[in-house]
Amino acid sequence: MIGDWVSIGYLISATLFIFGLKNLGHPKTAPRGNRLGAMGMTVAIFTTIIEMNLLDEGIIGWELIISGLVIGSVIGYIMAIRVEMTGMPELVALFNGFGGAASALVALSESWRYIYENDIVPSGLELAVIYVAAGLSALVGWMTLTGSLLAMFKLKGGVNIFGKWYQTPTWGPSWLNFVKVSLFLSSLILICMSINNPTDENLLWAIIIISCVLGILIVLPIGGADMPVVVSLLNSLSGIAAAFTGFIISNSVLIVAGSLVGASGLILTFIMCKAMNRTLPDVLFKSFGGSEKATLTRTKVGSDAEEVVMMVDGAQKVIIVPGYGMAVSQCQHQVKEFADLLKSKFDTEVKYAIHPVAGRMPGHMNVLLAEANVPYEQLIEMEEINHEFSECDMAVIIGANDTCNPAARSGVGPLAGMPIIDADKARSVVIIKRSLSVGYAGVDNDLFYEDKTMMLFGDGKAMMNNLNSALKDL
Ligand code: NDP
Repeated sequence: MIGDWVSIGYLISATLFIFGLKNLGHPKTAPRGNRLGAMGMTVAIFTTIIEMNLLDEGIIGWELIISGLVIGSVIGYIMAIRVEMTGMPELVALFNGFGGAASALVALSESWRYIYENDIVPSGLELAVIYVAAGLSALVGWMTLTGSLLAMFKLKGGVNIFGKWYQTPTWGPSWLNFVKVSLFLSSLILICMSINNPTDENLLWAIIIISCVLGILIVLPIGGADMPVVVSLLNSLSGIAAAFTGFIISNSVLIVAGSLVGASGLILTFIMCKAMNRTLPDVLFKSFGGSEKATLTRTKVGSDAEEVVMMVDGAQKVIIVPGYGMAVSQCQHQVKEFADLLKSKFDTEVKYAIHPVAGRMPGHMNVLLAEANVPYEQLIEMEEINHEFSECDMAVIIGANDTCNPAARSGVGPLAGMPIIDADKARSVVIIKRSLSVGYAGVDNDLFYEDKTMMLFGDGKAMMNNLNSALKDL
């Protein structure tokens, strides 16, 4: 009877996960998707606790379960409350790593039962299934942990040790690919060997060490504009590790949830690869992103808000290009006000050009602009809006750099081949940022120095406020 209720509980939580994921597909329904996912996880947790304590007659004490739930919830709550919108990508990378580590630890504890607690080792097919799943869960899980930690420090730009700042390196000579493939193959061989030697702890530790090194070596050469691909790939791997762990402990909801995360992460990875005009093997083995930032030698005189407003007076069409700087300065509400003022004063048509990798996480710009109540139909994807720039009076770039850097068309450097927003094709261009400095990929931007470009140097929010005041005074 209780077994039936457990199955129903798992079914409900799997259904909630699926509907949650479907709702996450659109900014309007995304908050509901988040809530459904959280509800699904709550149902899954309580169903598992009931299963463990009633069906299996209490494998684990209530003290451990309750203290784990309380400590985990408090840490998660504090992190979610304190994180700035600009720190979200690092938090996501960290959570990916924790997901992978959690799965790997469950796999480890299962193997440990046979090595240290003398539990009866299964035989035949059952042994092979458990050990292959445990080995793969350990491989993917530990790899995800170390890879995600490195990715987190790459997104941060470096690490602060005793007050001294160390930049996170991007390093990947071509011989490293041979090392990566060799390590991967040796871990698979070790997994096969562990089936014949299920109680050999050396094999277990060798798999863990190789997986940790592999995670670092995979992420180390990837940098610059290719980071979105690696973040979504690690997200997918954390789901795959969870699905393997579901097989080991025969937990159906873990298999379903892990597969959903794995599959959706993989889809996102390919979307990001398409956005960068790369294949996944290109990103993993070719090491496009260098850590060297370009040295700036040119100068450009800045404009002021009044000058820009004079230029925009009477414009029929303006396209706003948001980027990471908009997230840093949190000026999305001022941007919306600017668009409203243009519409009410000059009846200007305003649209937003969204690059898939703008900001520091997929969908970053959509989330911010949705928060400022920008109508979804005005948020246009790069591919659909690029042809409109040639007939646009002004492109207003707010804190974007790499995503509209014409250097990407040159075919060399970290941005090589990445499709960009064609803002340089607009009749005039206004760029709001604090200096002439480079974007995430470290490449100087010729667009800053073009005659038709006006640079508004300053923090995004302050500059947008100046523009809005100047527009109101007109
Ligand atoms: P960039 O990172 O290329 O440039 C952002 C610009 O914003 C900087 O040049 C900076 O210039 C400016 N800026 C920073 N703070 C402010 C501020 N307070 N006010 C105004 N401007 C500010 O941004 P893009 O969005 O164009 O490109 C994103 C890059 O990040 C791509 O290379 C992408 O591949 C990468 N990336 C994307 C991820 C994703 O999932 N979307 C994940 C990881 C990396 P200044 O200092 O002069 O103000």
